[in-house]
Amino acid sequence: MYDPKSEKAQDFINHEEILATLEYAKQNKNNFKLIDEILESARPLKEGSKTYCRGLTHRQASVLLECEDEDVKNKIFKLAAEIKQAFYGKRIVIFAPLYLSNYCVNGCVYCPYHNQNKTIPRKKLTQEEIKNEVIALQDMGHKRLAIESGEDPQNNPLEYILESIKTIYSIHHKNGAIRRVNVNIAATSTENYKKLKEAGIGTYILFQETYHKDSYLKLHPTGPKHNYDYHTEAMDRAMEAGIDDVGLGVLFGLERYKYEFAGLLMHAQHLEARFGVGPHTISVPRVKNADDIDKDCFENGIDDETFKKIIALIRISTPYTGIIISTRENEQVRKEALELGVSQISGASRTSVGGYTQKERPKDTEQFDVSDERTLDEVVNWLMELGYIPSFCTACYSSGRTGDRFMSLCKTGQIQNCCQPNALMTLKEFLEDYASEKTKKTGEELIKREINNINNEKIKNTALENLKKIEEGERNFRF
Ligand code: SF4
Ligand code: SF4
Repeated sequence: MYDPKSEKAQDFINHEEILATLEYAKQNKNNFKLIDEILESARPLKEGSKTYCRGLTHRQASVLLECEDEDVKNKIFKLAAEIKQAFYGKRIVIFAPLYLSNYCVNGCVYCPYHNQNKTIPRKKLTQEEIKNEVIALQDMGHKRLAIESGEDPQNNPLEYILESIKTIYSIHHKNGAIRRVNVNIAATSTENYKKLKEAGIGTYILFQETYHKDSYLKLHPTGPKHNYDYHTEAMDRAMEAGIDDVGLGVLFGLERYKYEFAGLLMHAQHLEARFGVGPHTISVPRVKNADDIDKDCFENGIDDETFKKIIALIRISTPYTGIIISTRENEQVRKEALELGVSQISGASRTSVGGYTQKERPKDTEQFDVSDERTLDEVVNWLMELGYIPSFCTACYSSGRTGDRFMSLCKTGQIQNCCQPNALMTLKEFLEDYASEKTKKTGEELIKREINNINNEKIKNTALENLKKIEEGERNFRF
């Protein structure tokens, strides 16, 4: 039985409910009266200075996904852009992945780190090497990292991850600092999640890969990750352990996307129903080529148009959840995805272990081929030219504004009072410390323009004072 409040994977990601949803979507894909009602119900509503959005259920969203009408697609894109503007404004948060180790005992058939791959070099960073990687990342201007590691209790035990987090937070090179470390490691126990919480992690990220249990078991033939229920219930354990920002994602291309889409929304609804807080982020990776992986061997790959529709519908369905797109995607796809709802992107990523300290981009231990190889300075400049405000903000984490505290501000659109000035102040830090002349010029003009879009006079004046102080050498201001 489908039960979003249940603790059991089979109930909250209920296979029969997904099949019934897909059938309902098919039956209603040309029911334009219903489709208009669904779109109408998802529109942002203004109440005084607050803005609300209802989101969509997996059934409603699946009808929109199933509908092939071009006009409806355009309405979906328009509404997604409207919701994005209402809750996120122009700021785009930037982060980088940091690969700690590619030792892995699992057999995931889509990842080159799977343990049957005997040709890929195996590497695990020492604390000294982590320090050098972090200095390289700080010297680019990064403030927010997502650490990545294969699952291997011998080589990468939790103690190694905890020590690495401590190392990362301890490094302050010149004006640099990593202010938020998000963690993407294998599903683990409640005890271990408590330890990660104590270590001060930001978001705990774990991709489901696929919600389809039979496919999941085939795609993960060996290793602890084979256990579908343990993997699917990981976010529940993380939240029980006190980690209130969790990040979901599926790897599009492994299974039929309509199934995955319904499963993903059901997972988000489950967290909301059980913990009162939905996922902090949703990532939308697609299968890519890598060392011994050929993406064309996966028959469920999705084209760019479908990908964009999925992103737009995630934005409409989960208006309060950040959407992340990585450098798996090229510049053009990233540009269009930003318009439709993406709020966080990685920049200048190296997806190999120890990649940031190498002069040339190393290919030997890459987890996937990077499609956007631009420098961080180029990405920042590009975002500004597109009209966005690149943001290195980590203020919510630094102020303890996580979980329901964050969501209550987010759900009324009031978080924008913080996001906008924080984006400008952290951009200013970037311009002072790391930007090229060209980027600095564009950035200074943008700050001058955008500071006037802060409506609250008190916040605006404080932001102006802080911008001046940043110019004089002070750092780390936040709202
Ligand atoms: S996806 Fe993760 S768990 Fe699977 S092989 Fe790759 S690193 Fe290991
Ligand atoms: S203020 Fe909070 S929500 Fe806004 S960009 Fe900063 S960390 Fe993110």
